Amino acid sequence: MSKHLYAAAVCTLVLLGAALAGCVAAEQSAGPAEDRDILYQASTIDALLLGAYDGCISIGELRAHGDFGIGCLHKLDGELVAVDGGFYQIRHDGTVHPVADVETAPFAAVTFFDSDETIMLDGPMNLTVLQERVLEHLPSENYFYAIRIDGTFPSVEARSVPAQERPYPRLVDAVADQSVFSFQNETGSLVGFWTPAFAEGINVPGYHFHFITDDRTGGGHVLDLYLEEAEVQIDMTPDFSMSLPTGGDFPGLDLSGGLQEDLATVER
Ligand SMILES: [Zn+2]
Repeated sequence: MSKHLYAAAVCTLVLLGAALAGCVAAEQSAGPAEDRDILYQASTIDALLLGAYDGCISIGELRAHGDFGIGCLHKLDGELVAVDGGFYQIRHDGTVHPVADVETAPFAAVTFFDSDETIMLDGPMNLTVLQERVLEHLPSENYFYAIRIDGTFPSVEARSVPAQERPYPRLVDAVADQSVFSFQNETGSLVGFWTPAFAEGINVPGYHFHFITDDRTGGGHVLDLYLEEAEVQIDMTPDFSMSLPTGGDFPGLDLSGGLQEDLATVER
């Protein structure tokens, strides 16, 4: 049981030029039911920041809305990564487990990943530089984009969080017990999104990446990285669909905003 709030924003696509030609063509040929350029999200980042950790959507339902995305698991039991249709839990102990359809997530965003643009980046880059360079290739900051970055990473620092028990602490307190994993020379994928500034409170404004190794044995929420070269694929998702929890803690939360400091702390 969930409410579906649906907002479509496709009318200005034609202005965005040749880089998005594939996207425009898809809009013209596919009806809404077939449209794969929808970012589907369950719950909101502010609800998660306030400790709404009970799963509100099954992995099976997420799978119906996408093959690519990120989130977390029921009770905050690890980081969630979806890539190439596989859904993986990266636990606090660093182990990676395929997630069963009956398991649930308190917060997640997924889409079907269809690359609109592929760019090759080289030169030494940390996470900040990588993000700036990808930004140069986004046609506008005012859309959601799914972004996949593949490469061999000289280093990645990633974290996961332990499962929480009631009464749930705020996320800023839960991440105080995070585990940080250091990967060296691992081939893998960054899976994540660009969220426009106007969606503050709904998702993480700017970039949010999770990492998973090619052999699916490690990963986590990305804190920093070092990269020599990378293939970046960008999928613009002009449609946005959000499903809000109808039970659990969500209805009683004060979601009037003002959680920017909490967000800045948990993201780094
Ligand atoms: Zn994360």
